[in-house]
This record gives sequence, C-alpha cells and structure tokens, in this order.
Amino acid sequence: MQVLERSDELAEIAQSLQRSGNRVGLVPTMGFLHRGHLSLVERARTECDSVVVTIFVNPLQFGEGEDFDVYPRDVQGDLTKLEDAGVDFVFVPTVEQMYPEPVAAGVSGATATTVLVRGISELWEGASRPGHFEGVATVVAKLFALVGRCRAYFGDKDYQQLLLIRRMARDLLFPVEVVGCSTIREPDGLALSSRNVRLSGPERRAACVLSRALLDGARDVQSGETRPRSVVEKMQRIVLGEPLASLEYAAAVDAWTLEVPEKLVGDVRLIIAARVGSVRLIDNVGVIAPTTAEVSRIQQGTFGVCSVEDRELEPVEATVLVGVGQAGEQASGVAGVKSNHQVNRQER
Ligand code: AMP
Repeated sequence: MQVLERSDELAEIAQSLQRSGNRVGLVPTMGFLHRGHLSLVERARTECDSVVVTIFVNPLQFGEGEDFDVYPRDVQGDLTKLEDAGVDFVFVPTVEQMYPEPVAAGVSGATATTVLVRGISELWEGASRPGHFEGVATVVAKLFALVGRCRAYFGDKDYQQLLLIRRMARDLLFPVEVVGCSTIREPDGLALSSRNVRLSGPERRAACVLSRALLDGARDVQSGETRPRSVVEKMQRIVLGEPLASLEYAAAVDAWTLEVPEKLVGDVRLIIAARVGSVRLIDNVGVIAPTTAEVSRIQQGTFGVCSVEDRELEPVEATVLVGVGQAGEQASGVAGVKSNHQVNRQER
C-alpha cells in the first residue's frame, strides 16, 4: 500500500492506472475508520482493480462552532486497517494540498472557487449546517478532478450527501460513477459513525433512539400510512421519550427530491438528525410505500408488508424493513432486507 500526500502524485498515479486499463475505485473519507467505511472499501475491492482511499478532515465543510477541532483522528490506525483491507493507495493530504489559499473551519468565503449544488444543498442537513454541502461538494469535486475516471463509493448513511454528489458528478460531467452502499449498524441499530466514539456510556445507549424512530416510522409507512405528518409525529414522540436526545429534524420525504410530498408514495426516505449529549448524529432509512391495492390487502390481512424483491424503484441500495418485530427487540431490525437494485432511474 502506498501512502500519498501530494495531490500531483495522486493525479499521476490515477492517470497511469487508467492508461494501463485499471478500473479505479475511490473511497473518500474523513478517517477514524470503522466497519462502515471498510464496507465501502470491500465493495470497491471486489468491483475495481485498484482502490484509492482518501483521508481528509475537510475544514470547509465544518461551520462555526462545529466539531472540526474535536473530530476524532487516528491516521496510523486507519493505515493499518486499510493495509489489512488490501487497499492500494491512501491519499492523506494536508489542508494546504487541498486548498492553495488558506481556509479554516467556520470561515466562509476564504476560497474563491467552490462548488454549490443548488436546491438539494439547502434542505435538511444543508439548512441545519449552512455551507456544509458547499464544503463537501468542493472537496469531492477536487478529488474527482484528481482521480478522473473511476467508481466512487459513498454511504447511504449520508443519504443527502450521496444524492448531492451524484447530482454534482452528473452536472459537472465528471467521468465518475457514484455508487451508494448500505449503512452498517451496531447490533442495537445505531449507525456506525466516527462521531460515536464521543458518546458517553449512557449517551451511547440513548443514541439508538434514532434508528428506533426510523424503524417505527418505516413500519407505519409499510402498513399504509401515507401522511408524512403522522409518520413524523411518531418519530418525534419516540425521540422525545429519550431524555438524552434532542431532535433537530425528522422527516418523511420523497427519496429522489428530499421534499415532503403531500402523500407518501413510491420511494420514501425517512431522515433524522438529533443531538445526543453534545454529539450530533444523523441517520435515515429507505422504505417503499405500498400501493393503494397493497394497503387494502394489508388491511384485509391477505398481504404482509411490502415485498422488495420484485421492485425496481430504489434510488440507492435502500434499506427496506420487512416484517421486523418490536422496535429494539430485533437488533438487526433496521438493517432489515436490503435490495441490491442498481440505480436505474434518473433523478427527477
Ligand atoms: P465520513 O468519514 O464520515 O466522511 O464517511 C466517509 C464515507 O463513509 C461516506 O460516504 C459515508 O457515507 C460512509 N459511511 C459512514 N458511516 C457509514 C456506515 N455506518 N455505513 C456505511 N457507510 C458509512
């Protein structure tokens, strides 16, 4: 495994790999790697000839008062994990390599050129964290520009980010295929995140309230609830019941536009952001709303919950909950049944 610190080295290596016909897999990360990141690496490993992982805590995507300074870092530990995972190249640039002009977390306007993906950047995470997605899109565009033709792997865990990057790659004509990968979870449903290490013991136990709320909300959608408000109220109630958590937003949205529809139909995404102690966590889950005919069959008891196997609609490798028990009762409930349908539909 070769560790690169200079952007020109990365560009040169990527070009020579492409010239010799290698399919390059790119996995951008902010480090402090866990099994979620490694699942992206594994997928890249199986689908590509050479795997490039990047580790960069990008100051531009952190707002004022956010956790840039305390974001967990362990580059040596990360390199050992990546070596074990069979990665070929790891790019660990300095801030100066990525940003020729000085930039700092929480300071906007420090760099003249940024990438703004209008619309999607303004919703949910974008509204909660002004400037965040501009920082994300800018750094990912730089990585795409350096690496060139590749398959780039991103997690469903950051679903809005995944949609945004897919959109940016398309709009800016990057020769990059953006691949979405399923969320990896702890046995109690908590989505793996580098930030989880900052949770105290009681906060860690409380943190599974996010996945519990998503699971219950998704179950309602699967049972035929089509009113976004009712699903959101259920999610809110569950989070309210956890004293260590404070909800920032919970929503039931169209999986393609992230807007709240009048009625939940087709691909639905339930999204949530909450603080547990001082740690801000996000999570989401995909669910396919049953058709009216299916709902009436569910109500008559002649149809279970919707089956995913024969559907082609999921925008990413969505998580669909099928026949799970009580929230929290079945540890892997949120992971549920995953469909492996390829992205085969244009964004609306
Ligand atoms: P980060 O280091 O948090 O920027 O994450 C780097 C990549 O790993 C992003 O594409 C994330 O969506 C993805 N990722 C983070 N957590 C998970 C998880 N629990 N399961 C799958 N992918 C994840």
